[in-house]
Amino acid sequence: MTKINSIDFCTHCRKETSYRICKSKIQKEIKGKTYEFNIKTAICDECGNKMDILGLLDENIKSVDEQYRKIEGLVSIADIKKLINTKNIETCSSLSELGIDEKTISRYLSGQMPSKEHSEIIKNLIQDSI
Ligand SMILES: [Zn+2]
Repeated sequence: MTKINSIDFCTHCRKETSYRICKSKIQKEIKGKTYEFNIKTAICDECGNKMDILGLLDENIKSVDEQYRKIEGLVSIADIKKLINTKNIETCSSLSELGIDEKTISRYLSGQMPSKEHSEIIKNLIQDSI
């Protein structure tokens, strides 16, 4: 977050105010398990209330997604992209042989959380392709 973006509309002050970015933690339940994620919160400099900053929300969603993958040991979108970009025919045929077709891969690339099983397969393939 750069300083240029540090002014936005505060719904409490009903005007444009400057804000600061604070780190905070949220708890989220995913599939019956409670996780703690680090997120960024924008705090209004004038009233001290939380502000909803559009870009920040997206950043937090992405960040929570990445943290969840790390905790659960799931493969990241960046890693799946890397694997696909090798365009290794062997890799592609292993993927479909192992039950991960192109449609599934494109769903994963668009952000769907891969299953633990698929994640392990993809991680192994990435290791093999290095
Ligand atoms: Zn305010």
